[in-house]
Amino acid sequence: MAPSQKVELVNEVCGKIPQARQTSRPQENLQLMIPPPIHPHSATAVYVGLDVGGSKLLVASADGQGRILKRVQEDTPRELAAGLLALNRMIHSVAGGLRPAGMGAAIGGPLDWQRGVVSPLHQPEWRDVELKKLMESRWNCPFSVDVDTNAAALGEYYFGGERAARLLYLTLSTGMGGGFLVDGCIYRGKQGGHPEVGHQSVNFQCQYPDRISCACGAADCLEALVSGNGIRRIYGKPAEQLNPAAWLEVAYNLGQGLRNLAAVYLPDVIVLGGGVSIGGGQSLIDGATAVMRQHLRIIPSPLVRLSRLGYDTALMGALALALRSPAAAMAEKKDFGTH
Ligand SMILES: [Zn+2]
Repeated sequence: MAPSQKVELVNEVCGKIPQARQTSRPQENLQLMIPPPIHPHSATAVYVGLDVGGSKLLVASADGQGRILKRVQEDTPRELAAGLLALNRMIHSVAGGLRPAGMGAAIGGPLDWQRGVVSPLHQPEWRDVELKKLMESRWNCPFSVDVDTNAAALGEYYFGGERAARLLYLTLSTGMGGGFLVDGCIYRGKQGGHPEVGHQSVNFQCQYPDRISCACGAADCLEALVSGNGIRRIYGKPAEQLNPAAWLEVAYNLGQGLRNLAAVYLPDVIVLGGGVSIGGGQSLIDGATAVMRQHLRIIPSPLVRLSRLGYDTALMGALALALRSPAAAMAEKKDFGTH
């Protein structure tokens, strides 16, 4: 196969869209990086993305280029029926009475992304919910759902800046999670899982080592050191109230985690999002990057940067799920055996 044919095939299979024009100040002009329509006749169609969180629901409509047309937000109801009602009402509102051409959703795990059956951990009444089936029969359009961290990685890839061939997205919020993309395709591990980046052991520095305890039961996880819950447990206060000495420890421990991830995945870019990353800002990124580089001796250091999508990474990822071609999702289907 000729190289050009191969590139075309990869682009077709992964739903990869042509590189957007480069800009030296991308964070100030996201419009330049919005991809052209994935579907050639989708210019007038409306796509809908859903960020289904434990505390809030975000729903937005976009055109075929991913430009937001309308967005709405509501608190997440506790009951499942009320939650589904709210989502349908919000979809109707943002779609302006039109039938969406495609929909995507980001939600907490665990879930079966192929069948679209979800059981988000932080929504106790949502168990084995056949979200794909329910939405496709209600709206008569394709519906894709994925774990919020995978969706967020897609959001970064399509709408956040450079289209890195190997992009690792990390979220530091109440917990810690990750999504890894190779040529725009979601990496899926054993049983379809996403990278559990928070549950790795690191060579940490901590003035209160006896307070380190991960929600998973282990005593030495990165998540227990740098997530919002972990920080609160160790330092007795939320991340936004940490003093500089505590932030130095968080940056050091995050840097050790980045070093491990860089050594294993060799990503081109690591993007950090979530409330703790946003709160720590560029000084957290700089401190962690310096530690990572100091300890990566023979391995090329990835670019590490803050997300440019703020708190919209999962929402933009949900829109990317709605917009990308069905062939892209098909390319990620693998036989997930039990071995
Ligand atoms: Zn853990």
